[in-house]
Amino acid sequence: MLDVTALGELLVDFAPVEAGGDTDPVLAARPGGAPGNYLAALSKYGARTALLAKVGEDAFGARLVDTLAAAGVETRGILRDPDVFTTLAFVTLREGERTFSFARKPGADTRLRFEELDLSLIDQARCFHFGSLSLTDEPAGSATRQAVDYAKEKGKCITFDPNYRPPLWPSPARARAEITWGLEQADVIKISEEELSFLWDCGPEAGARRLLEEFGASLVMVTLGPKGCYLKSGQGACLVPAPRVRPVDTTGAGDIFFGAAMSRLLPLTIPFRSLDSDQLEQAARFAVTAASLSTQRPGGIPSIPSEEEVRALLG
Ligand code: ATP
Repeated sequence: MLDVTALGELLVDFAPVEAGGDTDPVLAARPGGAPGNYLAALSKYGARTALLAKVGEDAFGARLVDTLAAAGVETRGILRDPDVFTTLAFVTLREGERTFSFARKPGADTRLRFEELDLSLIDQARCFHFGSLSLTDEPAGSATRQAVDYAKEKGKCITFDPNYRPPLWPSPARARAEITWGLEQADVIKISEEELSFLWDCGPEAGARRLLEEFGASLVMVTLGPKGCYLKSGQGACLVPAPRVRPVDTTGAGDIFFGAAMSRLLPLTIPFRSLDSDQLEQAARFAVTAASLSTQRPGGIPSIPSEEEVRALLG
């Protein structure tokens, strides 16, 4: 039995080794892609996870599979495409702000087809997770939509992280439409305050209320960067500040936040909609602590702190 199966992009993040080296940057190649980061965090904190994805038949693809396997993620649903290269992303850090550009013409992640998915990995899981990066191009867009339909038919809990990356979309309107579709499918939503401003020009409380009342979500988690997070279910809500840290790289912090939060909530046998403020707050404290600690180290998966490190800071 699995707790979470995710479908989505698996790629290599090229990030400057030292922030600010714009003229002659030295780039580190690190495993990336939000679904993989999310699952790796879940696995680190005790959950059982699997990924449905596609990489190239190349050295980067092999390394990504190895990294996820070492992180405890089931990798038999990761396909290798001999015709295209593993997707690459380039991260630019300027004054703490990250911007992305993607080498994806096409990247292997966009070539995933529904017919080739190992659906038994969805059958065996309690939750099915997806984001918006697999919705930008075909055939991965159709594969994602069909996989969501399949998971819903099987009664799985659907979780969604918009993970809006403007350069990947032909227009903001198209991104808004696809992300709105994703939000309509989900029981549990992790969204950032920037994404709520982009979608509806609203703050965390109004956004979470709208997602619960109009979109039918059971639980909404809004990430607020260094300010922490805001969580809301049908029965409770909490605003939890992040611990003060000195970040060197926030790549993957949102994914690690979500994996850490879900690792605390999945073992509770209560429906997500019925979680009360105390239960939400406990999960949120663990999650902001894990995510903030991760910002003190470079990269996504390699930066995930151990449960002991998180507990030590939590006191
Ligand atoms: P992503 O950019 O990966 O999509 P996100 O926008 O969802 O992520 P953030 O809001 O940046 O995620 O951050 C998630 C969590 O990471 C926060 O709740 C916080 O715990 C931690 N975090 C992020 N940035 C900082 C920071 N500058 N200082 C301390 N903690 C941070």
